[in-house]
Amino acid sequence: MDALKKLSEEASRCAKCGTCLLNCPLYPETLLEQNSSRGKLSLIESLAQGEITATRRLSDILSQCLICNTCGEGCPNQVKTEETFLNARRELCSRRGLPLPKKFIFRYILNSLRIVPALLKAGSLIQGIVFKRIPSESGLRLRFSLPLIDKRRFIPALPKKFFKESYPAVVTAPREKMKIAYFAGCATNYIFPGSGYAAMNILNRHGVSVVIPEKQVCCGLMAFGSGDWKSSRKMALQNIEAFEKNEVEYIVTTCASCGAALKKYYPMLFEDAGDDVKQRVARFSNRIIDISDFLINKVRVLEQPVKLTSDISNNTNRKIRVTYHDPCHLHRSQGISKPPRELLKSIPGFEFVEMENAGTCCGMGGSFNITHYDLSLKILDKKLESLKKSGAQILVTGCMGCMLQFMDGIYQKGMDVKVMHLAEVLD
Ligand code: SF4
Ligand code: SF4
Repeated sequence: MDALKKLSEEASRCAKCGTCLLNCPLYPETLLEQNSSRGKLSLIESLAQGEITATRRLSDILSQCLICNTCGEGCPNQVKTEETFLNARRELCSRRGLPLPKKFIFRYILNSLRIVPALLKAGSLIQGIVFKRIPSESGLRLRFSLPLIDKRRFIPALPKKFFKESYPAVVTAPREKMKIAYFAGCATNYIFPGSGYAAMNILNRHGVSVVIPEKQVCCGLMAFGSGDWKSSRKMALQNIEAFEKNEVEYIVTTCASCGAALKKYYPMLFEDAGDDVKQRVARFSNRIIDISDFLINKVRVLEQPVKLTSDISNNTNRKIRVTYHDPCHLHRSQGISKPPRELLKSIPGFEFVEMENAGTCCGMGGSFNITHYDLSLKILDKKLESLKKSGAQILVTGCMGCMLQFMDGIYQKGMDVKVMHLAEVLD
């Protein structure tokens, strides 16, 4: 079906009932109809029917959305809001193009195996000049404002060694029972290598050998969310090719956003492709699995004699209070919310507490957090209130984007809560 007709038909299915206004994390912050799903769908319908044109203002309005799919999940008419918003952004991008810096980054930087590490390696060497180190935290703050980076922002320091530099192509488990492939993703590789090391340790301890294909690149989610499907497809095909050589049953991810891109969005990207390409994409996407799901349902770690974690409370009778934030890309995009909780509850010495609204978006929303920083922080404020009420000492999550967002908010509010990836806590 013609793309515009499809867009118009889906958007016109909205009954304007307003149910989605109640749960949207963004709408209550502005009370602007254009920020609600209903408002955006109405504009998209008008665009698809030629009643309005693809202006810069329309691009701005459609970029004011976290693509969290809370609206789609609760819609009584089952309007495919997420798909419709993403397709509308694609339409706008094809008519208006992208701002030059974004275009350059998506087309020439993120898909490069050499440029990204070289730039970030240089960045790690000069970060002390541009940033101030935050004592007592492994973080940084800008000394002066830079375009798109707010001076208030907490930024984790870049590591000296990136994740992929630390491992050979195959990490063999001492008593191998199974072999999988691992998709690291940019944030694990360049910002949070510790979560990747932890994942390798846990997998190896349970007899799982890990293949880390050298030629994997960025998952392409940022380009996809900005409507640049051409760049995103290029990265997708590079990744598919990099993993095709390994005939393993599963490709494990530790970042919910990468996982959602590889599993859910890649098939969308190639909807119009020929059957042979679609089959390659499906073969790849069907093998993607989040580490929590993999540990619980494939390795069955809770039924094994090998201990998942050691009892870190041995020297004290006090238990460590831990809570969990559901990344949108894990529980709504991949349907995974139970396995991380089962794993956390199994750790001796931990007291798991459920925080209020654990499944509400944290306000990160990919580049939303860069382009609408103040709004993003306002959305996060509500999550931080829930976190405070829970009394947790550690906030655990499974998405690198959510980790960055919480670290920033917690630092700015002066809260005494540590943010950790699930794999780090288990290790
Ligand atoms: S809940 Fe669904 S039908 Fe109702 S206004 Fe929102 S998108 Fe439209
Ligand atoms: S995707 Fe999320 S932020 Fe966007 S309109 Fe729907 S509920 Fe609101």
